[in-house]
Amino acid sequence: MPESLFADAMTRLDKALQYVSISDDAIERLKYPKASLTVSIPVRLDRGDLKVFQGYRVRYDDTRGPTKGGVRYHPNVNLDEVQSLAFWMTFKCAALKLPFGGAKGGISVNPKALSRMELERLSRAYIDAIADFIGPDIDIPAPDMYTNPTVMGWMMDQYSIIQRKLCPAVVTGKPTAIGGSLGRETATATGAFFVTNAILSKFDRPPQQTTVAIQGFGNAGSVLAELLHHAGYKVVAVSDSKGAIYCREGLDIPSIRHYREAHKGITAVYCEGTICNIAEHEILTNAELLTLDVDVLIPAALENQITLDNANDIRAKYIFEVANGPIDSSADGVLERRGIYVVPDILVNAGGVTVSYFEWLQNRSGLYWSLEDVQQRLQAKMEAETECIWQQSRDLSVSLRTAAYVHALQRLGEALEAKGTRNYFVKG
Ligand code: NAD
Repeated sequence: MPESLFADAMTRLDKALQYVSISDDAIERLKYPKASLTVSIPVRLDRGDLKVFQGYRVRYDDTRGPTKGGVRYHPNVNLDEVQSLAFWMTFKCAALKLPFGGAKGGISVNPKALSRMELERLSRAYIDAIADFIGPDIDIPAPDMYTNPTVMGWMMDQYSIIQRKLCPAVVTGKPTAIGGSLGRETATATGAFFVTNAILSKFDRPPQQTTVAIQGFGNAGSVLAELLHHAGYKVVAVSDSKGAIYCREGLDIPSIRHYREAHKGITAVYCEGTICNIAEHEILTNAELLTLDVDVLIPAALENQITLDNANDIRAKYIFEVANGPIDSSADGVLERRGIYVVPDILVNAGGVTVSYFEWLQNRSGLYWSLEDVQQRLQAKMEAETECIWQQSRDLSVSLRTAAYVHALQRLGEALEAKGTRNYFVKG
């Protein structure tokens, strides 16, 4: 097991490199982030004292366009994690042929321990600290774990105050009232839904005969659960940070989502309470959810959930990685040997950044699209790139993960070489 998340992420790159003809210069460039920023963010708390939080922003690679990536609020956020997430964003944008490089940001904080006003002050102070590092043509933040349209609205407003002009295209995932795209909030889940259907149809697996367990009932996990439920899949287990609920006959996902929404006060940014409070279901731990005997397992919470410790206990036939990096590289081999199909994060959860791209385009053109337009373009993009990656995996006889990296690397390599490598300077 590599010593850090970033070292682990790099092993996927190494594996894909043997299938791509790409210059040594390009490979060398892709091993390092372009720029990393660590900031201290002083915030006045409601009770009067001052607390300083650590914040990060990493711009991994901008060869294919301005860098793009979410901002995460979580106590475990650190530079290694943010750098790994920025690396994945670079490959995700290339795999989806979006004109962006990869970035990521985060603050080490327990957001649920802050009041709404404290969260707003923290979000605005983070933008004050990184304002010179971002911009509509430089680096464009978006939501990730425990950040949402409300937080993106504060960030866009703060950046506009600093610039003394309205800058909607500096952040995506904003509320629609201030330039957000229709369909952005549900885009990660909707994109994952298109990929799930496209892949499962290759195995002639009808939704009605497919059971699903989902870890994480946030923006991505809960919306995907509902889309799958309405399409006829049997979602038998879902979880949040407190634990999981299970029902062999299938859960009533719309009611569970309704319960979650009802537990979000008008002044609260996050839900209070947990889905485990819904009485009539069997309660499991998150670890037990991962090893349920289901057809499809969808990790939609944190990274490193499936490792050498539990890879042999996984009983699902297909895993769709909605979270970033939920399977570590040491577990990849075990799952592959056991014939479990893993559909990788850089494809499955790319619907979010794809509609973020649509939002950025709309902000820059001033022409706003209908929800139908957004959904159609998202579906076309997700299905086209899923098919390319599927074909690549057949042609090279490699896993879908390696195929996705190969697919992205070809585009990145071309762009890096077009900007000049040693081949421009050295004969032969
Ligand atoms: P979110 O903050 O809306 O929800 C996170 C969910 O995970 C919550 O239900 C939370 O209770 C649960 N959770 C937290 N810790 C957990 C734990 N230890 N075990 C089980 N569940 C836990 O976040 P989100 O936006 O849904 O993001 C989830 C994952 O999807 C992250 O890995 C994120 O990077 C990835 N992702 C999100 C987007 C997006 O647009 N939202 C895009 C791409 C990837």
